[in-house]
Amino acid sequence: MTPSTPKARSPADGIQLYSKICMVGEGTYGKVYKARNRETGQVVALKRMRIDMEREGFPITAMREIRLLKQLQHPNITQVLDVVPESSNSVYVVMEYMDYDLSGLINHPQWSPEPAHKKSLMHQLLEGLEFMHARGILHRDIKGSNLLINRHGQIKYVDFGLARSFHHTRMQEFTNRVITLWYRPPELLLGTTVYGPEVDIWSLGCVLIELFMKKPIFQGQNDIDQLEQIFKILGTPSPSIWESFSKLPWACYMTPNTRYSENLREMLGTKMTAGAVDLISWMISLDPAARPSAKRCLEHRHFVEEPLPVPPTSFPVEGDWHEFESKMERRKRKNAAKTQHQQ
Ligand code: ADP
Ligand code: MG
Repeated sequence: MTPSTPKARSPADGIQLYSKICMVGEGTYGKVYKARNRETGQVVALKRMRIDMEREGFPITAMREIRLLKQLQHPNITQVLDVVPESSNSVYVVMEYMDYDLSGLINHPQWSPEPAHKKSLMHQLLEGLEFMHARGILHRDIKGSNLLINRHGQIKYVDFGLARSFHHTRMQEFTNRVITLWYRPPELLLGTTVYGPEVDIWSLGCVLIELFMKKPIFQGQNDIDQLEQIFKILGTPSPSIWESFSKLPWACYMTPNTRYSENLREMLGTKMTAGAVDLISWMISLDPAARPSAKRCLEHRHFVEEPLPVPPTSFPVEGDWHEFESKMERRKRKNAAKTQHQQ
């Protein structure tokens, strides 16, 4: 065999090629592990996915996610390195390993990125989104735990389990039961089934606010409460700011009786520059038609104003820090407090 001949794969090359180091995530479809390739020493992430036979023997959800991730090659989208079958109904998706997720970092008491770092994360997230949208993909689950960061300060989208393709020219019907509640735009809460990239822009706008405020901006308990939380800060919509509002399927019976006025800009103004306030409040415009595309966001003056973007490279934790570790730590602290209280 010449050195350039690719090595034939034997069954032993399967999952045995990787030794698991620890668990870093536990999600909807399965567990995510940090692991090492025994041959090359490369540290990778292994996401175990069940491929239950969903329709006519074809595992739609998992396969769609894998196909989309493989199709989207971009510095701000997590790369799939391989897919290794484990059994007849599960596979391991081998991905590049990312040290942190944004949710874990935001919840870490010692993580306080500089304005230039936040600007870089914002810029990278918009570049990833512009790329995805230009290729006709909606993510539909943008939130901190689906945004991964490595120690070089690169941030990348992951978890394409709810992603779908869309047409740029023809409006399509989708389900409105997508996007984690706190990041779901008002038009979906009001029952719209015709939407496009502007739903991801809303979610990203909410994540960016969280990056500055250290907590999610709209924390509803249920769909109706979520809408009320949004209107409390953005104001109850009037025809002048959201013309098609009254035509939405559930507009008449989901709109709260109290009329609120807008106070977003005042709230954000204490935490960020005027340029950032302008860009972020544009992204979370109540009227979906008023939201900018990712491309327009990247052209915003915020990115040419001082300080210029610099990727963050110092983190409060040496090792890994994801939503998973962050939750474990919180649980540990709670239990310790309980034990102390009982003593
Ligand atoms: P789910 O669909 O179950 O939410 P995700 O793909 O979001 O699955 O993975 C769950 C969690 O595992 C993520 O929130 C993240 O913390 C961690 N994770 C996922 N992929 C990686 C990776 N490539 N590197 C490091 N951690 C990861
Ligand atoms: Mg996820």
